[in-house]
Amino acid sequence: MKALPYAERVAGLVGSVIDSSTSLLHKQTHDIVRFAMGSPAAEAVPARILAEIAAEQLSLADAYDYAATEGDPPLHAALLEMLRGTSDETTAERLTITAGGMQGLDLFCKLFVDPGDLVVVESPTYTNGSATALSYGAELLEVAVDDDGMIVDNLPRLLEGRRPKAIYTIPTFQNPSGATLSLERRHRLLELARSWGSMVIDDDPYGLLRFDGDPLPTLRELGAGDPLVFAVRTFSKIVAPGLRVGWVDTDPELQPLLINAKQAMDTCTNLPAQRLLAGFLTGGHLEDHLVTQRAQYKRRKEAMHAALREHFGDIARWTDPQGGFFLWVTLENGVNTAELFEVALAEGVAFIPGTAFSPTGRFDDALRLCFASTPPERIHDGVARLRRAVDKVS
Ligand code: PMP
Repeated sequence: MKALPYAERVAGLVGSVIDSSTSLLHKQTHDIVRFAMGSPAAEAVPARILAEIAAEQLSLADAYDYAATEGDPPLHAALLEMLRGTSDETTAERLTITAGGMQGLDLFCKLFVDPGDLVVVESPTYTNGSATALSYGAELLEVAVDDDGMIVDNLPRLLEGRRPKAIYTIPTFQNPSGATLSLERRHRLLELARSWGSMVIDDDPYGLLRFDGDPLPTLRELGAGDPLVFAVRTFSKIVAPGLRVGWVDTDPELQPLLINAKQAMDTCTNLPAQRLLAGFLTGGHLEDHLVTQRAQYKRRKEAMHAALREHFGDIARWTDPQGGFFLWVTLENGVNTAELFEVALAEGVAFIPGTAFSPTGRFDDALRLCFASTPPERIHDGVARLRRAVDKVS
């Protein structure tokens, strides 16, 4: 790297294996079954409806102006209405529109994380989130995840008397494991956070994509103000990630600071994208869209399970998510999945190696598969290709 007088925080910029693999995959020209990215199915993106809304809404010059920093009023109002009656029902002063979930995480860190602050993360975790905390100098503590989400009762022992500044969790259909934090653990997590004076980052992009089981109350709802829960939400998975629109829902007292921080960052969230989403919500399209997506993702998860049983039954175990995009496969035959990646790519299948989901490089025997973006017949083909790649490196 060029010898320049870099800021100290540059040492904390670790980059994202997940995002780099998107760039890599965009450059590939051969046929690849893409289990790597966490994108909605191309068929699930409501492009035609959005184009109709665009023709109507985006022909006005004022759709290209700067927007209010806290969010364009039509989207703000439509979002409040969308959340009414759900476990994320909220009030206008609590909502700030952001440039996707990632900006929500960045805003939290900008407001609360000083170098050396301790932030608890799940293990495995969504490392783009933990990387944001690292970029502000946080120290991370990894806590294992099982089928019921973060093993919250391990926290007191792992902390050895320290009090974390924040606990970062993806409670529902976790990225990457697909696990959901049980109700009992949700209560326990909040109780511990309260006792330590820690804040909770409740990052939940997938909660509306439940295809099995009953919904659980969100941490935001259960926390009821104490401890401070910072809810990070996004339209990326339920509508389209390229729009780059999400929202933060938290204590209204934080909103002036969130606005100041956002004004120093990007002034406002992309206004054409906000207008498209407002039109999508007020046109009543979201509910139908979610019903279709849930049914489609359930079929895809089942197809992936069937293919895994056929091709990996002898050498692996995997999780059984009730919603969302991902499942997590652990190989039991000693193959290192980071080394498997190149061979699998040549074989025509892409995944994200397990080490990408741990800031300390754990999980070299595991991999994340996205079942959401691939049709069932092709899922079968992709898993067969993956097995061929595993056999080549074994
Ligand atoms: N949090 C989690 C758990 C995610 O899976 C993602 C997207 N992969 C994000 C945040 C970021 O969302 P966005 O694309 O809206 O920035």
